[in-house]
Amino acid sequence: MDLEKWVRPNIWNLKPYSSARDEFKGEASVFLDANENPYNAPYNRYPDPLQWELKKKIAEVKGVKPESIFLGVGSDECIDVLFRAFCEPGIDNVLSVDPTYGMYKVCADINNVEYRAVCLNADFDIDVEALLDRVDEHTKVIFLCSPNNPSGNLLSYSKIERVLDEFDGIVAVDEAYIDFADTPGFLPRLGDYDNLVVMHTFSKAWGSAAARLGMAFASSEMIAIFNKIKYPYNINLLTQQYAMQLLDKKATVREQVEGLKAGRVALREQLSQLPIVRQVYNSDANFLLVRVDDACGIYNYLVDRGVIVRNRHKITLCGNCLRITIGTPAENDILIDLLNKYTR
Ligand SMILES: *Cc1c(COP(=O)(O)O)cnc(C)c1O
Repeated sequence: MDLEKWVRPNIWNLKPYSSARDEFKGEASVFLDANENPYNAPYNRYPDPLQWELKKKIAEVKGVKPESIFLGVGSDECIDVLFRAFCEPGIDNVLSVDPTYGMYKVCADINNVEYRAVCLNADFDIDVEALLDRVDEHTKVIFLCSPNNPSGNLLSYSKIERVLDEFDGIVAVDEAYIDFADTPGFLPRLGDYDNLVVMHTFSKAWGSAAARLGMAFASSEMIAIFNKIKYPYNINLLTQQYAMQLLDKKATVREQVEGLKAGRVALREQLSQLPIVRQVYNSDANFLLVRVDDACGIYNYLVDRGVIVRNRHKITLCGNCLRITIGTPAENDILIDLLNKYTR
């Protein structure tokens, strides 16, 4: 495996910070090595920098090795660590599609890395030729969000495979919404590609956006690079404990996801019947992209009545579109009720 050719030289050569927890691992009766306060257990102690206990549990649920998991403060940290590992500021570039999740560009801008975006086709799918055409010797990462935000659809599996095969760099597949789709996504393919990074999150299907916990899956060699870069104790003990408990309740979470998928079918059907709705796009996520006859008017009407959706009118290919998250059945009813009463 030739990971070195993709990693920034300063990161490849980096000698990472060595914490007290790194230098002594194991059982002991007296810990006087980390300048911690001896009182207020267990929160007086620095947490495990590599979160092994939690990773073992996640590994079982996801069917991967613990060494193939990186945990970040939300997917946002996973995205940022990709820039810091692979992209030389002012020199390298990353590539993505348009429209897609806004964080890739913001993170590129923060890191002073050029962001290139290739328009999706009318079905919100990748134009692989156009995408690969924009690759040059300084293109280090391609971000593909599937199911895509804000369109809600899975990108074609075979097109993502082609990008993985033909691009000599990192392909980051952001699967924040994969639990709402009827496919396992790219996690089962991790062993097939040295250049694949898959990102999942606890923020959506797991109902834990407030915990700020994101996951990146890749070869253990690549994860080792990410571990060198991250803040030593990025995931605090409260979050680690909370996530362990949540993983024990995965049957409940699965039921909630099934309920939201049923809600998606129902809401889609009800929206389609409204005269103000022109098109409800297919969704593999927990939201619907809906083209209406006056997105801004309807958005403001809903805001005035305490219901907030996302106005995507100004986004590429999304003229007059609203992005509507699937809520509880009661919340969805309130929305439909208001939209039924809407008149210009
Ligand atoms: C919501 C979302 C995430 C989750 O981000 P977190 O930082 O984990 O909350 C990631 N990617 C996409 C495309 C999203 O829409």
